[in-house]
Parts: sequence; structure tokens; C-alpha cells
Amino acid sequence: MSEHENLTTATGCPIADNQNSLTAGSRGPLLMQDVQLLEQMQHFNRERIPERVVHAKGSGAYGTFTVTRAIPEYTKAKFLCDVGKQTEVFLRFSTVAGEKGAADAERDVRGFAVKFYTEEGNWDLVGNNTPVFFIRDPYKFANFIHTQKRHPQTNLRDANMQWDFWSLNPESLHQITILFSDRGLPVSYRHMNGYGSHTFSFVNAQGERFWCKFHFKTRQGVKCMTGEASANLIGVDRESHQRDLFEAIARGEYPSWTVKVQVMTEKQANTFQWNPFDLTKVWPHSDYPLMEIGILELNRNPENYFAEVEQAAFSPSVFPPGIGPSPDKVLQARLMSYPDAQRYRIGSNFQQLPVNQPRCPVMHYQRDGAMSTGYGGSNPNYYPNSYDTAPKEAPEHREPGLTLGDVVADRYNSRDQDDYTQAGNLWRVLDDAQKDRTAQAIAGALGGARQEIQMRQLCHFFRADVDYGRRVAQALSLEIDLAMLQQSQQDNPQPIRA
Ligand code: NDP
Repeated sequence: MSEHENLTTATGCPIADNQNSLTAGSRGPLLMQDVQLLEQMQHFNRERIPERVVHAKGSGAYGTFTVTRAIPEYTKAKFLCDVGKQTEVFLRFSTVAGEKGAADAERDVRGFAVKFYTEEGNWDLVGNNTPVFFIRDPYKFANFIHTQKRHPQTNLRDANMQWDFWSLNPESLHQITILFSDRGLPVSYRHMNGYGSHTFSFVNAQGERFWCKFHFKTRQGVKCMTGEASANLIGVDRESHQRDLFEAIARGEYPSWTVKVQVMTEKQANTFQWNPFDLTKVWPHSDYPLMEIGILELNRNPENYFAEVEQAAFSPSVFPPGIGPSPDKVLQARLMSYPDAQRYRIGSNFQQLPVNQPRCPVMHYQRDGAMSTGYGGSNPNYYPNSYDTAPKEAPEHREPGLTLGDVVADRYNSRDQDDYTQAGNLWRVLDDAQKDRTAQAIAGALGGARQEIQMRQLCHFFRADVDYGRRVAQALSLEIDLAMLQQSQQDNPQPIRA
């Protein structure tokens, strides 16, 4: 037997006997030194991670998105800009209310979450098989989900809770109608549509913004079943949709969806008869026709369900340049709650897992945390920094400001302030002896930095008060370079105070 086939512990040490525990005599008791047994039992205790509060039961597969109509007029997202361009995807279907052991064929909304591994970073479209949702304000979300899960005393699904909430929140009526129509019981995940549901934004290379909605139309045809057929199916197979998806892909019958978008201009949004960002509303097809942009095909089963489906982490906050959020309140709240849930469920470095990892280079200054695989190595872990080779911002991807009533949502430059006057005022309050002690203390600390950093910092002292700069320079035994000071004056219009 070759060496790599030997059974080992998780630390790689060969195991001579994997059947019999180490005991004092044949009847026991066990010995604590049977570390193989201990390792196995301890790891077993930790095999499960917290299940998702919603969408706990899911099925997933990899595939390919192929552009059939490029839309550079709407978005600069590179993966949408060339006909024929292909992008790897991972799609996770799910039921919503049931736990991990729930039956796939129950009446429920179905999750339809797609991760596009684009060349400019991942895009997660975390949608459902319905174009709308039960609520339009995220404040109601946790309460709504409580009514869909189990009663706190009986531990049963409870019609009183569900209909009490729904009857008090008529914005749910549109989604209720879909849920209790035939579409609430799809025969399989392959036979249902997917929708991004929320309104999102596109930004093109000219910096123009459009609002958009995403639709995935099944090319297998929509097929639903009756309540009776669902009950019969659940009686014989609780994993019907997982089985259907896995087996179809395994036999080479790859399911596919036509991907379509609706686009609305910012001007049209101002006069739309409903709030275009209301998650309980669709945009009528007759007013905003669907435009085909591509085909999504699922063609590869995961190798390991836990690693790739259970640990798949989707968040509506994950966008490449050219696609972004809209003011939809529920979407805005999900931008926070989904990554938070993934950090709770999987850990702070969930993006480092293979199924979640972008297929393009990742460069940022986040570091460490539980289970870090060492991202960043010995590179600087802070920004801004003076290292030319360290990752830098890409201002070409800046999005245009979004006008919201009287204000514009934008990234305002917080450096655009007077940083010197009050520091200088304080300096001028200090008595002579304290000025010397302060300059000495600064020099003691700043002296450990490289000389160009010392000079950059000196400029700031000079800008606050020339005496401040002079004393620190003396304490550092640095020659004051007047040319450099003048340059710093040009770089920063704040006056150097005499
Ligand atoms: P249209 O006549 O243009 O579209 C009707 C839509 O109804 C079709 O897209 C069809 O989907 C969908 N549909 C049929 N049966 C069901 C069902 N049981 N549950 C959910 N959808 C169903 O009309 P409008 O665009 O004005 O929309 C009317 C209603 O259709 C909406 O209120 C909404 O409930 C539903 N709908 C609308 C969508 C939209 O984006 N406008 C998207 C999906 C549903 P398909 O083409 O796949 O057969």
C-alpha cells in the first residue's frame, strides 16, 4: 500500500487500528490516551453548523451563464458586455420556512440564489421563485418569519400566527396569491422561474444609472403539482427536488433558464404609478418589456454537499462594478443582514471557502479572524500606506451620486476639512516647557519611522504652527527642507501658521 493511502489522524499520524478502542483489559474501561478515539468523537460533536433561519433546506449546482445579448448601454459590468461571454455560476435552490429536514415538495416560496463568479468579483443575486415578497418594510421581517416557523409552545406550524400576521399586513396579498396558486407547488427546482425580486441598479461606462429587475425563465417549462400530488410525493420522498436536480445533472440533462431584464430610467421611476422600489410590486411586462440577455445552464453537481451547498454563502450586498442596489428598503436591510448571518453561521472568513471564493484576485486590508488561511501574508494590513505595490483604489469604478430629494447620496471626501487650526491652537496654549516635552515625546516615537514618513509628518506640524514643526524637527535632529515645505504647502492649501 502506498504511503498516501494510509489511514491517519487529522494531524497526519498513521492509525494502526481504527476499529478497537484502547482499553485496560478486554472489558474496559477506556484509556484517555486513545487520542484517535477522542479526536473522532470531538470532531463529530462539531459536524453541524447553525442552520439558516430561513432557506435552511437547499440544493445547489454549478453551471455557466452565457451572454446572448450584450447590454453595455445599461451596465459596464464586463461579464454582460460581450455576446458569447461565459461566466461560471453556482445556484442554490431552497425552501424557505422548513428546517433542514423539511420535505422539498411542501407549499412554500422557493429560494433562487445565484453566485456569478465574474472577472470583476462575485455577483450574488439572492432571489426567489416569485417576483414579489410579503412585506415592503424590513422592520416586519423577523416578525413575519416567526409566523412562518413554529409556535413557541406547540412547536407546530400555526395557521393562527400566519393568518393573524397576513391579515394585519395586506401588503402580503400579492405574494399570498402566488404562494397559494399552482406556483406554490413546483414539481421540481428545474421547473420554476427565478426572480431577483428587488429593483437593482445598472450603471454604464458613461456614469448613467438605470433601475432594473432580473428574471430567470425556466426552459424546462413551468410545471406545478396539486396539493394532493404534493402530499403523496412527500409520503414517499422528502428529498424529491434534491433528487431530481442531482440526478438530472448526473445523467447530462442540464437544466437551463433564459435570463431577462426589465430596465427603467431614473426619469420613468419618478412617474411610475407605484413605488418602483416596493418589493410587493412588479413592473408590468406591457410597460417594461423583458429583454433577454443570456442563458444560465446548470451542468455540474457539487462534490461535497456540506462544503459546497451548506457552506455556500450568498449576500445581496455582493456586486461587481456596473450593478448595484436600489433604495428598496428590504434590499437595503438585506445588504447588512445576509453577510452578518454568514459570519454567524460559517465564520468571519467565509469568503475564503472554495465555493464562495471569487475567481479573480482578491486584494483588501481585512485580516485574521477565526480560521484565517493567512490572507495578506506579510503585506501591509492598513490603508492608506506608502507602499507602491500594495493594493490601491480604482477611482474609475466610482458610481455617480444618487439624488434623494434634497440630498445626494455619495462618498464625500472627509479629508476636505481644516485639520490644522485646532491642533495649532492647542500648541499655542502649551507653555514653553510643555512644548519641549511634547516635541521630545513625538520625536521619540516618530524617530522609529522611515525618514520620508518623518518628513511627511513634519509638514503637518508646520501647518499647525511653524514653531511646532521647528521644535519637533530639532528634537529629531532633522534639517528642515524648505523646498519640501513649499511643495507641501502647494499640495495642501491650508496655511502654514507663523
Ligand atoms: P403579464 O400578463 O404580462 O404577465 C403575467 C405573468 O403572470 C407572466 O409573467 C406569468 O409568468 C405570470 N404568472 C402566471 N401564473 C402565475 C402564478 N400562479 N404566479 C405567479 N406568476 C404567474 O402581466 P403583468 O406583467 O401585468 O403581471 C401581472 C401579474 O403577473 C403580476 O401581478 C404578478 O403577480 C405576475 N407576474 C408578473 C411579473 C412581472 O415581472 N411583471 C413576473 C412574474 C409574475 P410566466 O411568463 O413565467 O408564465
